[in-house]
Amino acid sequence: SHALVWFRRDLRLSDNPALQAALDAGHVPVPVYIHAPDEEAPWAPGAASRAWLRRSLQALDADLRARGSRLVIRRGDSLSEIEKLIAETRAEALHWNRLYEPASIARDTRIKQGLKSRGLVVESHNAALLAEPWTVQTGQGAPYRVFTPFWKNVRPRLSVLPVPAAPARLPAPPVDLLSFDADDLGLAPPANEPRWDEGFWAHWQPGEAGAAELLDAFLEGAAHGYKEQRNYPDRIATSKLSPHLHFGEVSPRAVVSAVLARDWPAAVKPDIEHFLSELGWREFSHHLLFHFPHTAQDNLNPRFEDFDWADPDPRLLEAWRRGRTGVPIVDAGMRELWATGWMHNRVRMVVASFLTKNLRCHWRHGADWFWDTLVDADLANNTQGWQWTAGTGADAAPYFRIFSPVAQAEKFDPAGKYVRRWVPELAKLPDSALSAPWEHADLLARLAPAYPRRPVVDLRASREAALAAYSGPKTRP
Ligand code: FAD
Repeated sequence: SHALVWFRRDLRLSDNPALQAALDAGHVPVPVYIHAPDEEAPWAPGAASRAWLRRSLQALDADLRARGSRLVIRRGDSLSEIEKLIAETRAEALHWNRLYEPASIARDTRIKQGLKSRGLVVESHNAALLAEPWTVQTGQGAPYRVFTPFWKNVRPRLSVLPVPAAPARLPAPPVDLLSFDADDLGLAPPANEPRWDEGFWAHWQPGEAGAAELLDAFLEGAAHGYKEQRNYPDRIATSKLSPHLHFGEVSPRAVVSAVLARDWPAAVKPDIEHFLSELGWREFSHHLLFHFPHTAQDNLNPRFEDFDWADPDPRLLEAWRRGRTGVPIVDAGMRELWATGWMHNRVRMVVASFLTKNLRCHWRHGADWFWDTLVDADLANNTQGWQWTAGTGADAAPYFRIFSPVAQAEKFDPAGKYVRRWVPELAKLPDSALSAPWEHADLLARLAPAYPRRPVVDLRASREAALAAYSGPKTRP
């Protein structure tokens, strides 16, 4: 007998509870992916995510084929495609791993109710989180809004768990099932458009094997010294697992187990704790989005409801997007994002602070651009990252903490390696002129004629204006 295994953002064969449940019940699993981006509206995957997804589906199909199975790809309404597949395979069960975004929860609930009434076994599983949102609550039975107590609650639950390896062989699903090719889903940039994603793939290998390689490399390398080094954007100092975690190409349980199973020297233990707490932020973001689903578009902190965001000047927004603001660390970050689909966390905070505080644009403008351009674009993490930086979120940075892009560059890119890499027209400037080149007009004109003469906004004046707006009557509690 058959069981459908509906793959969504759990694109892996190891530690995949939905697949495992089908196998444990003695079914022949029929691995299915249904392309239905409208069902995630208004948060259908952005362009960079789609480019990643295409490759990840190809990798999953190849991994399944190597074991005797294959991925059946359909497009259209999920419920009707599932109903067709149930009829075609006479499947007795349907298994999937849970998602936590509001639109997906609503769809999945509808599908579960629709199919269960017909006597089919329909089961969902947890593949994506260490602690699902409804299992964590304060002493008063409420959701958490502050990270530290949230993490105090969740951290003791982590331990080395058995992480099932990918099955060595899988039985084949029926041969005659209609299946599209991942290339037929319109995921890659169309042929008549620039191949903006071309440069990505020197940096990334979508799929389970790519994720496993990065995890190993991290444990051998960057884990040592992570706590300190993770702040320096020019170094390989973080895991870069974020897109793999987003698409479920590795499970957070597998990451935690691999980390905790090692016998770390005492000096590395603080690094390990810090890394686990970053996974904790991922959990916390999902906790917030689940319990406060309106926050994907509205401020978590209602104090900001009537806040005076500046009307976005399209030219300023465009300068920010393209990395042409005249502020080197901001431009370097935005160009790293454009070239690789990823940006270092410290620089994400700097560019987000610049947009929301110095340019005083609503954080949604930034979140939208990140949504389209990040390969790790994740509704929970992106929402939380933007609201935290804007000061409108949970546990937010106090409004008066406005990142100075000059001080950040001096501290975390002191030799200018990051800026020179992504803003090559500044490469000839001496280190001392790199963080605030407008203060060295002669050098700038002579050595970097292609770079903006001055920032699109005066840093000091815009900082004062932001402070005034953030502490003004419209944000008072
Ligand atoms: P590591 O330092 O190796 O951390 C390991 C994992 O922990 C990451 O892969 C990620 O899953 C998780 N993590 C780390 N930091 C955070 C954090 N601050 N919040 C939530 N989870 C975290 N992360 C996304 O995955 N998707 C997004 O769309 C996203 N948007 C962001 C927007 C802004 C404005 C900011 C400030 C941060 C955003 N982040 C987002 C969080 C963070 O920048 C990335 O997760 C991190 O840079 C990924 O690199 P890494 O895998 O090497 O991280």
